[in-house]
Amino acid sequence: MQQTDVKKQAAGGVSPEGSAPTAEELRLINLYTRRELTAGEVYVFSVTLCDNDVDRDGERFTVEALFELEKLFVGKTGIFDHNPSAKNQTARIISCRVEAESGRETATGDDYFCLKARAYLPRTEGNAELIAALDSGIVKEVSVGCAVGHIRCSICGEELHRCAHHKGEEYGGELCCGELCDPYDAYEWSFVAVPAQKRAGVTKSHDRKEDNMEGIMKKLGRGQSVTLSDRDCEKLLGYIDTLKQSAKDGVFYRDSLTAEVLRLSAAVKTGISAETMENVAKSMSVAQLQEFKTAFEKQRAEMLPLQPQLCGEKQSPKSALNGQYNI
Ligand SMILES: [Zn+2]
Repeated sequence: MQQTDVKKQAAGGVSPEGSAPTAEELRLINLYTRRELTAGEVYVFSVTLCDNDVDRDGERFTVEALFELEKLFVGKTGIFDHNPSAKNQTARIISCRVEAESGRETATGDDYFCLKARAYLPRTEGNAELIAALDSGIVKEVSVGCAVGHIRCSICGEELHRCAHHKGEEYGGELCCGELCDPYDAYEWSFVAVPAQKRAGVTKSHDRKEDNMEGIMKKLGRGQSVTLSDRDCEKLLGYIDTLKQSAKDGVFYRDSLTAEVLRLSAAVKTGISAETMENVAKSMSVAQLQEFKTAFEKQRAEMLPLQPQLCGEKQSPKSALNGQYNI
């Protein structure tokens, strides 16, 4: 399976509707906490993670993909501005739901659906600033990262990079876009600070740059000659920088996936030594690592039929077995 990591800025963002949790939400929150928290100790908010409308990259999630992501994002933590060191400033998703917005249509004329999540932050001193920012709407954008199995052409259904159609162009009155299908992992979501219009501007030109560069690459791929102006060269260098950053993100993702596979391998008692597993993992592709992770998780779930995965980070000193699923 082809695997592609995608990072998307959500269209809707954060809406702090009802900052006190319902009884059910509090129950879900307490599945993740070390000690029982009261309603007054948590800040709960809604956030739109993604939708099925065509984004600035000319791509969109299919409605089926949104329903897959609905399962994948539960329990995932959100960090502030892609900075994993801001460890205390993390929010966690406790529930997700695909919602239709009646009367609204996507750019392709389909009914509009979005993936909404409820997330919480403990009301600690360290989080006070972030909570105030969320409340006042200064921080309201989020971006999400996930891995999808396929990006298909909306016109012909082929893998987008293999067919002759181009994102953003119309064919017989139909807009071509990349359809993000079969997501199999959701690995992060982040708050994006947006007071800076500068930032929005940078993102925009950055996207156009990528489109142009993709066009140039496609031409080169077809064996056509390309004349580059000084500005194009400059853009090409910028594009290479972007790719370098994506590669870095990929390495980070691969490393965390490998660590997870190693932990799971030990937890399900495969009998394979950590050293051997580590060596094998090194030669695996990300898709293969993902396959191992899924298989191990399944095995672990079968070993512990009464413990749903929701257990996540809950620690209970009462259970001697706890260490086994506290992975
Ligand atoms: Zn096509």
